[in-house]
Amino acid sequence: MTLDAEIASHDERDPLQGFRGAFQLRDGLIYLDGNSLGAAPKVTAARLAETVCEQWGEGLITSWLGAQWSIAPQRIGDKIATIIGADPGEVIAADSTSVNLFKALCAALSLRPGRSVILSEQTNFPTDVYMMQGIEGFSGGRIKALAVAPETVLDRLDEDVAVLLLTQVHYKSGLVRDMAEVTRQAHDKGVLVVWDLSHSAGAIPVDLNAAHADFAVGCGYKYLNGGPGAPAFLFVAERHQDARPVLSGWFGHASPFAFEDDYRPASGITRFLCGTPPVLGLVALKAGVDLLCRADMDEVRAKSLRLGELFIERMEQRCGEFGFRLISPREPERRGSQVAYAHPHGYEIVQALKACDVIGDFRAPDILRFGLTPLYLRHADVVEAVERIREVCATRAWDKPQYRERAAVT
Ligand SMILES: *Cc1c(COP(=O)(O)O)cnc(C)c1O
Repeated sequence: MTLDAEIASHDERDPLQGFRGAFQLRDGLIYLDGNSLGAAPKVTAARLAETVCEQWGEGLITSWLGAQWSIAPQRIGDKIATIIGADPGEVIAADSTSVNLFKALCAALSLRPGRSVILSEQTNFPTDVYMMQGIEGFSGGRIKALAVAPETVLDRLDEDVAVLLLTQVHYKSGLVRDMAEVTRQAHDKGVLVVWDLSHSAGAIPVDLNAAHADFAVGCGYKYLNGGPGAPAFLFVAERHQDARPVLSGWFGHASPFAFEDDYRPASGITRFLCGTPPVLGLVALKAGVDLLCRADMDEVRAKSLRLGELFIERMEQRCGEFGFRLISPREPERRGSQVAYAHPHGYEIVQALKACDVIGDFRAPDILRFGLTPLYLRHADVVEAVERIREVCATRAWDKPQYRERAAVT
């Protein structure tokens, strides 16, 4: 079989091939950034229009009950639960990942009153460490935010540490941490764990309860395809749901419409809601999550691994001479659904690739990140993407002043 025929046969035999048509993706475009902003499901626009025209336009305020807007965070949370190995009633869709980190960290701290350290790794996604630092400042120094080198983080677990915050799939390298093993080591030292699933949910099989996870957060706009700024999610294991929320807003009250003078937390996961749910955002998030719920996560993982292997092999064969250094793990099982390279001209190359209809992204200081989204990427797209990377490098098409200008958002 020729190489092209072999690639075509992978696509023909792909059990997930039916999903691509459910997304709005222009012909010719190779979208390798679903790990930053997932593509738009075709149904999303219609669902939003319905919500605006019928539920809001006609139903007005009666839709809080009539269209069940008021319980959308819990209902969508229950759907997300099925993708991340949680039980019904353990997940809500609400707020941003950053805000949910704050809620989870504070809840964990309240469950470990004698301990004062929030531990993480220096190379974690910046907002994770920033939120820890915010809590340290707010506590007047009683709580310490400690971010150490990634290799040493598990050695720092001791009886001063209240909570460990780690991202399961690293946002730059794609390195996957062993959730069950890390959680076990933390629990051995009495430490609770908050897992950030921003690059795992919808990308790799996750089993929070099998790992005895305590808390987890993650984004709605990456592999869940919920749209720009989609609500995030928060998982609180049932055994921790008695923790008293710090963001004690009225939507987490036991009886919000009793308008009582004092805060009284709702039971269950509902107490971790804060303010009025963003209905339009939740409607779009539901469209993305519904699609993913129809996919078998083991098939998603198997295809993601095939795409990753193909990408790396083709990069070795076709772009070997251009100075890319693979920074993702070479072993497939230790890699999430992305492949990252370091290159001194990474920024310019990513810009030049956009002009050739290949969208990846750049992460400072020198990393090119290519997200491989199994629901809508074909094997042939991966092969073609590498050909376009080769073209951009062989012709030095990236070496132009307009590609050097740094944009505010990368
Ligand atoms: C994308 C990402 C976030 C983003 O948080 P927001 O509050 O949605 O901006 C947080 N953590 C990790 C690990 C991420 O990859």
